[in-house]
Amino acid sequence: MQQSTSTLGFSYIENFRCLADKCADNCCSHNWRIAVNDEQAQNYLDNYPSLYNIIAKDSDGYRIQNNESGCMAQDQGLCIIHRDHGESLLSDTCTDYPRMYRSLSQFYTRSGTMSCPEIARKCLFDDHPFALQPTELPDNHKNGTKLQNQNIAELSQTLWQETISGLMESTLDKEKSIEETLSTLWHMATKLEQNSLTDWPKIIMQSKPKQLLSSLKDIAKSAEHTTDLLYMLLENLDRPSETTEHLRQLVIGAFTIHSHDLQNRPRCQLKQEFKDYYQNHKSQWLQSSLKRFVAAEITRTGFPFISHTSNGKDYGTSLKEWTTTLCLRTLTLRLLLSVCGTHYAADRQGNLPDENSVITWVYNFCRKVNHTQPGNNEMDLRQAVLDSQGERLYDYFDFMAM
Ligand code: SF4
Repeated sequence: MQQSTSTLGFSYIENFRCLADKCADNCCSHNWRIAVNDEQAQNYLDNYPSLYNIIAKDSDGYRIQNNESGCMAQDQGLCIIHRDHGESLLSDTCTDYPRMYRSLSQFYTRSGTMSCPEIARKCLFDDHPFALQPTELPDNHKNGTKLQNQNIAELSQTLWQETISGLMESTLDKEKSIEETLSTLWHMATKLEQNSLTDWPKIIMQSKPKQLLSSLKDIAKSAEHTTDLLYMLLENLDRPSETTEHLRQLVIGAFTIHSHDLQNRPRCQLKQEFKDYYQNHKSQWLQSSLKRFVAAEITRTGFPFISHTSNGKDYGTSLKEWTTTLCLRTLTLRLLLSVCGTHYAADRQGNLPDENSVITWVYNFCRKVNHTQPGNNEMDLRQAVLDSQGERLYDYFDFMAM
């Protein structure tokens, strides 16, 4: 059966415009690996020798070469391929980034990644960034070209739209704390796995945060595992890509180290000032930023219809794994934002962070975690949460016990 061309995109990506040379952290200035497919490389060789000279072939295929300023195809933040020849000669990576496309059963979707600061700004601060709107595929993906179709039985575009809209409403619910949002998602995943797709919108709408709040209080335990998040965050900040060393140092400095046993992990405790900051400011900006992070990740990863990200199935291969990964990443971002917010307030007479600071913290985090494989700490914590049937998460929810 021929697939329809119907496409839905999230408002934040449909209204996105690349800032190019005005971008504070232009993607052309990094030493990223920009792949060029064989067909495009042949086109360069046959018709554009100057472009062929800036690509090279290694064991993974053709790529644009880098130099000390980043991508060799850039001139002061402007892409010379785009500037001199137009979009049709760009590599697919450059044409697509920061957009992500999915081909599902009978329709297509478009979302994006907050590793781009402009996408982070829109997801964090636009009025309705996650609203869905009809759109069209770009020329390089017309009629699903180069998109792997994921045929999901029973999934229509209407059912997808209802499911996603329900998830956005549940995630962004102002009445819930971020911990309740994550708890809701985790318990919802169990029910979704056990029921038919056609029941999903109803299950999502029926998730009740107030019941989950009481169970959170009942289950919350000691601080036994709470330095796990510190190690996972440090592992995330250590992932390849340009360093965020000063963020790493801020996070380490936020903990008092109680033991220096070289055989084991040091015992650490979060300093009181950072706990107080979270307690006093969570309803002012932290919870809303974290909920928007969760919503943006749902759109980026295609949840709850398990599929690939640009990094394979890094979120997991089941709904439970996927939701656990999202919970853990959100909780490590909660720690990072709390530490950064505390320092910001200390440096500026107690002020709340401005939009640019929040965007910088979030997109740097996403640059670290969205494009590389999960590390051992994350994989171990994911397994520990799954083995505990989710109960371990309640230790992690308790920020004051860190
Ligand atoms: S990071 Fe985003 S806004 Fe900046 S140059 Fe890249 S795509 Fe454009």
